[in-house]
Amino acid sequence: MGKHGAEEGREAGTAQRRRLDQAAELCAKRGQTLTPLRRRVFEIVLAADRPLGAYDVMEILARDRGRVAPPTVYRSLDFLVSQGLVHKVLSVNGFVACSASARPHDAQLFICGSCGSSVEVAKKSHAGLIEEEAAALDFAIESVVLEVHGRCHACRLATANPTVHP
Ligand SMILES: [Zn+2]
Ligand SMILES: [Zn+2]
Repeated sequence: MGKHGAEEGREAGTAQRRRLDQAAELCAKRGQTLTPLRRRVFEIVLAADRPLGAYDVMEILARDRGRVAPPTVYRSLDFLVSQGLVHKVLSVNGFVACSASARPHDAQLFICGSCGSSVEVAKKSHAGLIEEEAAALDFAIESVVLEVHGRCHACRLATANPTVHP
């Protein structure tokens, strides 16, 4: 069991390293640089299974590089958002790693109010409805992030079946 867990951890680590390398390539292709700090901030957001606030990121950063000033962390997060690597979750004032950052898409985030986890479903567009409305208003869309709040499967299962401990 322990060995299995360690293997899973290693696999997750490899997948994460691949995501980080892909992100660096993507930035380079656009003439941008994924600096060591930006890379580390992305790594922290990537490792979390829920939206992280800037201060959460700062706390984790402090463990390996000491205190980093808040504006520096915000700038790194803003950079990652501008590159589509991270989505800003306004409703919980947090940041999540994009699950499909290689291509442009509208993010649809399902956020659990009980455990705080979030799952992204990348849509090419919300059936053109928002685009239609934006066109009618002559509004130029920069990004669309739909935040859906509720209770995730695991939490609903736990409530329906209080004796089951996942
Ligand atoms: Zn996304
Ligand atoms: Zn949940």
